[in-house]
Parts: sequence; structure tokens; C-alpha cells
Amino acid sequence: MIDLDETHAPSASSWVDGADAHREFPVQNLPLGIFSTAERTKRGGVAIGDFVCDLGAVEPLLSGDAAQAASLASGETLNALFADGNALADALRKGLFELLTDSARQDDVTPALYPASACTLHLPFAIGDYTDFYTGIHHAENVGKQFRPDNPLLPNYKWVPIGYHGRASSIVPSGCEVVRPSGQQKNPDGDEPLFGPSKKLDYEMEMAVWAGGSNAMGRPIPIAEAADHIAGLSILNDWSARDLQAWEYQPLGPFLAKNFNSTISPWVVTSAALAPFRIAQPARPAGDPVPLPYLADADDQAHGAYAIEMEVLLATAKMREAGLEPHRLSKGPMDAMYWTAAQLIAHHTVNGCNLRPGDLLGTGTLSSETRDSFGSLLELSEGGKRPLELPGGETRTFLEDGDEIVMRAHAVREGRRTIGFGECRGKIVG
Ligand code: MN
Repeated sequence: MIDLDETHAPSASSWVDGADAHREFPVQNLPLGIFSTAERTKRGGVAIGDFVCDLGAVEPLLSGDAAQAASLASGETLNALFADGNALADALRKGLFELLTDSARQDDVTPALYPASACTLHLPFAIGDYTDFYTGIHHAENVGKQFRPDNPLLPNYKWVPIGYHGRASSIVPSGCEVVRPSGQQKNPDGDEPLFGPSKKLDYEMEMAVWAGGSNAMGRPIPIAEAADHIAGLSILNDWSARDLQAWEYQPLGPFLAKNFNSTISPWVVTSAALAPFRIAQPARPAGDPVPLPYLADADDQAHGAYAIEMEVLLATAKMREAGLEPHRLSKGPMDAMYWTAAQLIAHHTVNGCNLRPGDLLGTGTLSSETRDSFGSLLELSEGGKRPLELPGGETRTFLEDGDEIVMRAHAVREGRRTIGFGECRGKIVG
């Protein structure tokens, strides 16, 4: 467990204009990312209110580990900063907190601040590998029911954190367009598959867990150390072509239905920033198996979940033309993970697989229990059988060209300053 300190105090106040009232990036957050401006190429930054603070530019104002961390984060990715775990990023957080709360430093720091509206955000890491899990138990049940009404969960689900290896090359930051994929689709009543643009394009509301540090091949990360290998979290939209998926996924799992594009929110909300929002993992229902010893840790069960609220909004081309606000499709807590993030790390490495800094682990779609919190159109439209009604009179079962999906997430807990992840946005183009 990360100890709470002055950087988490709800009363902490920054001299940066608007930061204290900011819904996403007050000084208690200090998420890290990679940005560029018109005059300079990619480098590391920290979000504070509606500004981005250039880490390389404030390095001379920092000392010790914080200065070393700012130097490591001043390049084109954050991989070097997290190469040995979170210690340097934690030192950087403390150093930045001092600079941004002490008004005596305002004149020195101000030249390093850029309006966020003048910055382009990029992928925070060079992502070596991407794994997507399936921890959302309500999602797994909702989807399983469509195929196996009497037995929605397969027998391995409550023993093994189910996952598959995804594609890192097609992960993009928020704001990039999503080209509708083409592929094979087979109608249940047809003898042969057809080829063409996906007619069942969907989103998946997930969180991304960023790996920090590394393990040598053949050396698993024990569950008790796994939380130290979480650099932080972002939002992940795992775009999915359901018609391609239904035809291709057996026996080896998703392939072209998933690997054409995944979108992330570009700010890394660090493990230190999330420390006040660690909560107990919900108890397993009576009768569920006890996790095998390599996945069992009392401290992880006591603090391994997150108090995070997630939401998905949709704006169609017609809605934008009519000046209508994006329509909320769902909102719910990140409480449906059957396995904790630490259990995902321990499981991923238990066979000796080596994780590297900047590897990305998707949680899987996080639907909560009730319909208003379902994290995909596959669930909301019941596989396309129940169209959703939108403001302006349109309906949707799956996404159409021009549709834009926006995901947001906030860590919220009574007595704590709410912090946000920024946006995870993507628009479908034909
Ligand atoms: Mn997924």
C-alpha cells in the first residue's frame, strides 16, 4: 500500500489558475503524459488544471530523485521513468506538488506551462505488448447469456483471469479517427461467409493498467509485489467488430475483430495519485472457488480495487448538426472486476512471461450490474435486438459512420478530492 501524504490532502491548493476547481486535474492528481506544441516536438508533461507543465523545463527547479525523474520523462515516452518501478515517479510527484502549490515558485514555473488547448497529446508509452483481460463478470455473464442462456460463464472463469494477447501497434490516443474495419461475417442462416465493412461495430468501456518495472523471463511477479508493478491507469476503448468476432473467435479467441484499433486516454493517472481511492475487492459470492495461492493476498483483497466512476457518451453526426449534447449511454462504478489489477499482473507472469515498463493490460469491459451501467452496445442493444433511442429521434444498435464515443472516468471517494482521467474519444469514419 502507498502511504497517503500531503500530496493527497483535499485542502491542498495550487496557484495555477482554475486548478483547484478543475474536475479532472487538480493538484492532487498530477497525471503524466507526452505532449507536443507547435514550436516543439514530443516530451513529457504533467496536467494541472487547463495547463500542461513541461517536465524537462522544470527539471532545473527540482533536485535529487525528482530532478532525475523529470530528466527521464523529458523524452518522447515515459518508459524510462518507469523502468525500475514507481519510485522515481513518486519522487517527481512530490517535487511537482511543491512547485505547483508554493506561490513563491510561480514566476519560475510559469514559463513551463502551456495552455492544454495548444498541446497535442500522444501515447504516453512506447507500448511493447498489449494484453486484454475479461475481468468484468457482469459483462461476461451478459455476453455469455446471448450464446448460452443456461450457463453463461465457462467453467474456467472463476479460476483463471481470462485474457488474450492483443495488438500494440494499433493503440492510439484519444481524438484519433477509427476507420470501420472490413472482414468476414457469417449470417446464421447463410452457408458461406460474406466480406465487407463491419455492420456491428461496437465499443468496450475498459480501464488500462500500465505496467511499471519489469521481471526477468522465468521469474514470476509474486502477488504481494504485483501492485508495485502498476505504474497507473488510463481509460481504454477496445473497439470491437461483433460480426467479425462471432465468426472468427473460436477456437483461438479474438483477432481481426479487435486488432484494428484501440483508443486510450493519454494521461497516466499514477498509482500514487490513486492511493486514496484504493478500496476492498468485493467479496466473492458464496460458493465461488477460493483463488489459488499464487493469486491470493490479504492486502490485495483489502485494497486492490479502485473507487472509480466510468461513463460513456455518444454523439451522432445528426446530433452534432442539430447542436444536441452528447447522450450518455451508461455510467457505473469500476466495481465489477472479478480479479484485481494485481491479480492480473501475478497471473500474467506466473508462467515466467516477462512484463516490461509501458506494457498495457486491459481490464475487459466493465459493465456493472444494472442496464444503465453496461459497457458495450452488444449488451445495451441485446445483440442488436433492442435499438437504443437517441435525442433527435435516431436509434442505434451498433455504431454508424460519424458516431463519436466519449469515455470519461473519475476517482471519487467521500472526503477526497475527485480526480479525473481526461477523455477517451474516437469517431467512426467509413
Ligand atoms: Mn476488450
